[in-house]
Amino acid sequence: MFQNPGFDGHERVVSVFHKQSGLRAFIAIHSTALGPAAGGCRLWSYDAPERALSDALRLSRGMSYKNAVAGLPMGGGKAVILGPVPESRRKAVFQAFGEAVESLGGTYITAEDVGVSEADMAVVAENTSYASGFEMLGGVGGDPSPFTAHGVRVGIESAAGHGLGRTDIENLHVAVQGLGGVGFNLCRELRALGARLTVADIAADRVEAACDLFGAERASVDDILLVDADVLAPCALGGAITEDIAAGMRARIVAGGANNQIANDDAGQILFERGITYAPDYVINAGGIIVVTAEYFGGSALEDVERAIDRIGDRTREVLERSRKEMRPSHLVADQIAREIIEKVQA
Ligand code: NAD
Repeated sequence: MFQNPGFDGHERVVSVFHKQSGLRAFIAIHSTALGPAAGGCRLWSYDAPERALSDALRLSRGMSYKNAVAGLPMGGGKAVILGPVPESRRKAVFQAFGEAVESLGGTYITAEDVGVSEADMAVVAENTSYASGFEMLGGVGGDPSPFTAHGVRVGIESAAGHGLGRTDIENLHVAVQGLGGVGFNLCRELRALGARLTVADIAADRVEAACDLFGAERASVDDILLVDADVLAPCALGGAITEDIAAGMRARIVAGGANNQIANDDAGQILFERGITYAPDYVINAGGIIVVTAEYFGGSALEDVERAIDRIGDRTREVLERSRKEMRPSHLVADQIAREIIEKVQA
């Protein structure tokens, strides 16, 4: 693990094997400097366990940075459950995962991520009080993806203002890759404001629904990243912006909901050199963790949560302006802002 490129001085990384249920998981706690390490639990079928570990390491560091920049009293963590999990064992797996989270004594707080539903989280919560994202109280909580989508939309507005000088997003052409919880809700918000949509998903029924409901055009999963749109919004899995895509894409803005959108620093550098505005993923997709945190601590009014998510707009502008002024790629600027916040409390 210490040689894994994703290792970044993580405080604690736990591997979990639960014989009866078959649960195999990694829980990575990157930092608790700002508070308990908060971040979702992903269920995914990896080619090899090392890949699951890499994902947990990279995603948990991303959560530290996301939570810091969002001003949350939370550190960064992430869990990955190695799939596939047969339906017959699903409940037992999430119960066992809840026990594992509980055993960490509140240093890690979990919620849903890709492949994990609100109902799964309710099962996790049977065995631990360190779970969130399954209970809606006064409009705050439950499935975080609509809140994430809202923040992404606000981030797109800021990025379009910065990169294209746009004051609104009417007729802005947005290409959305992935129509899950985040992508589909993002389409809904964008359409309501008059944006034009091109969409792709590996699930044909989701594409169908987006075309019917939002008048979207369809693209193939291979073409979506190269569509001649104003904005490319990656909302599927990480790593969509490879060096080749960065060099060949036609949209002038990248702003979407997926975590770890740029495959590596070189891809980010290419975007920067081509003058493509990149709204760093974890700056604009923090809406979900903002509501997960509010649900976890309780007592927040919906308006306060919405106001907190709307501040993503200002933060996006701040990062993009600093990137322009310092002539450095925006993802490096965001990382530096996050590290400064974390180091300040560690000093
Ligand atoms: P989801 O599982 O609901 O949706 C993912 C969608 O992407 C699915 O519809 C899937 O079919 C599609 N997809 C997968 N591979 C694809 C490909 N190659 N091309 C096109 N479509 C593809 O997940 P989600 O909750 O919507 O999350 C999407 C992304 O946003 C993830 O990277 C996640 O980590 C990130 N994220 C989610 C939240 C949240 O609140 N759910 C918060 C922050 C970040």
